[in-house]
Amino acid sequence: MYTVSDLDNDLSTLESHGAKVFTVGYSWLGRPIKGVFKGATDGPQILVQGAIHAREWITAQLSVLLFERYSGKCGLWCIPMSNPDGAMLAQLGLDSVGDPEIRDFLYKINGYSSDFSLWKANGRAVDLNVNFNALWGTGVNNVTYPAPGNYIGPYPFSESESTALAQFTDKVRPRYTVSYHARGRVIYYGFNGQNPDPSIPPLASSVTGYPAYTSESSAGGYKDWFVLTTNRAGLTIEVGSEGTPYQDLQKELPSMLRQNDGLLDALSVEAGEK
Ligand SMILES: [Zn+2]
Repeated sequence: MYTVSDLDNDLSTLESHGAKVFTVGYSWLGRPIKGVFKGATDGPQILVQGAIHAREWITAQLSVLLFERYSGKCGLWCIPMSNPDGAMLAQLGLDSVGDPEIRDFLYKINGYSSDFSLWKANGRAVDLNVNFNALWGTGVNNVTYPAPGNYIGPYPFSESESTALAQFTDKVRPRYTVSYHARGRVIYYGFNGQNPDPSIPPLASSVTGYPAYTSESSAGGYKDWFVLTTNRAGLTIEVGSEGTPYQDLQKELPSMLRQNDGLLDALSVEAGEK
């Protein structure tokens, strides 16, 4: 497991070593969405974001470890757990929800099952990574009703978590963004025919060993929105082997780390050379 308190402990350690911890906003259930920063505040910046999908909570821990290892010159902004309510739900189930009415609602949406290990959405049954304003509602897997995954929400940016991420990104204006997801060991880049900074996907591919593809059927994701609105490179990186159950992905952390180690440093060099 990697819970909100595990993350808090890691952030405190990073803070005691000189990193800056900050809060970008609050989840539906009132949990702070925390981030951590190191590097130069002037010049190009890089933003890394993890665990926007609940069941992919391992990417929060991975993001923290990659942040720790980063030694590039560019400022690095890391938001390890973008969906804390969902990540807690996927790991701890309904025990992570205090309000009995919300518990009942989530139980019903989850098909009256108490196993939330496959939950993708936030605490309101909205999938945050289809809630951004980027051809919202046109993705092939989109659904238009509350669900464990793929519900686009009533309108773009209906959720506090997606709104907080977007507003924070607008403030930092990163040169590149990296969004960690699971599973499949594959990289997605570009959006709707836009492929800014075409040297970035092959670079990421050569560091990680993952193949890189353009996103064809997705819409409303963080990376989609970033590419569309800034015309800068955003990467979605799916870690972990396709056949491993989500709740068992933690055992693959060493290989995830090995494969992704050095990517952020390589992006920093790339950003600095332009
Ligand atoms: Zn995902």
